Amino acid sequence: MGDIKGFVCLNCEYEETHFIGFGFRVREERILYVCNNCEALTSTNAKTPRCRTCRSRRLTEVKDDFAFTKCPECNHTGLEELAGHWD
Ligand SMILES: [Zn+2]
Ligand SMILES: [Zn+2]
Repeated sequence: MGDIKGFVCLNCEYEETHFIGFGFRVREERILYVCNNCEALTSTNAKTPRCRTCRSRRLTEVKDDFAFTKCPECNHTGLEELAGHWD
């Protein structure tokens, strides 16, 4: 089973969820990346991942202890973290 990582902004209610790891029917691992250019998050199983927002290839893999810090929509720092599993 894979992991779900995400957050809800407590200010504007912007919500973002990413499905990472191995799901029940997915053979390739989905990895969560953060863009070094625009800081957007992208989850993908592509071999040469690109940022879904700015198409940059300068991505860094997100580690387990990664924490969301601010809302990309309104820059508010009050976020409620979402976590779970998918299959
Ligand atoms: Zn927000
Ligand atoms: Zn980007």
